[in-house]
Amino acid sequence: MAYTEPMLNHERFCNAIRIKTLWPEGASKGEREAPLTAFQEFLATAYPAFHQTAEKWVLSPYSVIYHWKGTAPTGKPVLFLAHYDVVPVEAEKWSVDPFGAEVKDGYVYGRGTLDMKSILIGIMEGAEVLCVEGFQPKEDVWFAFGGDEERTGLLGAQNTAAWFKEKGIRFSWLLDEGTPIGQGLFPGLAAPMALFGIEEKGFLSVDLTVRQQPGHASQPTAVQAAAVLAEALVRLSKKPFPFALTPAIASFFSRLGRLMPGFQGWALRHARALGPVFFKAVAGNATIASLLHTTLAMTQLEGSAADNVMPSAVRGVLNLRLLPPWTVERALTFVKKAVADDRVEVSIHGQGNNPIPANPEHAKLAGPGWIAMEAALTETVPNVPILPFIMVAATDSRYFKDIAGGIFRFNPFILDSKEIALIHGHDERVSLENLNRGVRFYTALLKRL
Ligand SMILES: [Zn+2]
Repeated sequence: MAYTEPMLNHERFCNAIRIKTLWPEGASKGEREAPLTAFQEFLATAYPAFHQTAEKWVLSPYSVIYHWKGTAPTGKPVLFLAHYDVVPVEAEKWSVDPFGAEVKDGYVYGRGTLDMKSILIGIMEGAEVLCVEGFQPKEDVWFAFGGDEERTGLLGAQNTAAWFKEKGIRFSWLLDEGTPIGQGLFPGLAAPMALFGIEEKGFLSVDLTVRQQPGHASQPTAVQAAAVLAEALVRLSKKPFPFALTPAIASFFSRLGRLMPGFQGWALRHARALGPVFFKAVAGNATIASLLHTTLAMTQLEGSAADNVMPSAVRGVLNLRLLPPWTVERALTFVKKAVADDRVEVSIHGQGNNPIPANPEHAKLAGPGWIAMEAALTETVPNVPILPFIMVAATDSRYFKDIAGGIFRFNPFILDSKEIALIHGHDERVSLENLNRGVRFYTALLKRL
């Protein structure tokens, strides 16, 4: 039975979890960086055979790069991305020590067990075993691990990508964390299906600000800033971003439709031909709608600090997830047009990311890396259907879009919606079964390169 094979070495994984590579609020630079450096050093001692084989560069506590030279490279190097930082914890809400790596009921508990030390360690376990066996890949294989993905990736992934660009290194394709092998995510479909995140949505927050003369609430002005903002928000809610099928999502629905019986399956298979009829039918389903257009969420409202003081400004914040081809700039113009009121200032809040469209070949279940990914997964989880998908959260891979021919965002774990909800949540845990599955997947994949 493939799924009950013994763990290759789950003690190494537990030790990785025990290193507190989190970003506590208010921590000094030194406090933040010490565990990141400790993690880099842990890898060197835990995986000696790989470290004897591969060349390593430590750019900073936030970036470590490995080069595993190919025996007969054809100029198509492959990159594996991962991050070793984790999000903070509310320890009192956990039933176990979040950094204890306790094993119970077939699960390893701890922050980072899903997101994403399980992936990083899966890659390292695969590489180590293969090095011990004397295996060498044919192509050049690179690993790049980052220490600030959960913040911005500016210190880690961004610098790493710049390092590769400077050296003129381009990748045939890369694999980063992403969407899993989902189980029971779609009504009527209980069997697991692998979701390859070949496309990534962009991110944009927008400030809407209306200013006015501040003063005592006993003498309000005839036209109030809050009402102006409210009207703008109502206009926005009546003008959603248009629905469209990107090639990746069109391919996803058509594959999903083949797995679904009856009318539902037929409608999904014909989503493109049905066009507006299909969009209208699914518009009320938030999950499906999020795959079909740029979403706009009204997340924050701010006015006066006191109940009897007129605010000098009221502010609303919108959070947008951009579907290709909606860039930050285009989306901002769309919002301004929908607001249609010069009294409302529209500006970018923080930093936005443009969406990353899929390699068009990937949408057709082909293109750089597809065959290797498919074969490795089929070997690990026989007969699992593979569907192209879109990643709605940002990953480090976005910094590599100009130097990779194709990007996969994928977790080789079978997860249901309850387990997916544990990512960044309390009592985050990964099953030993999934941990094993990950090691087997990365080993199978590395062997094909
Ligand atoms: Zn992550």
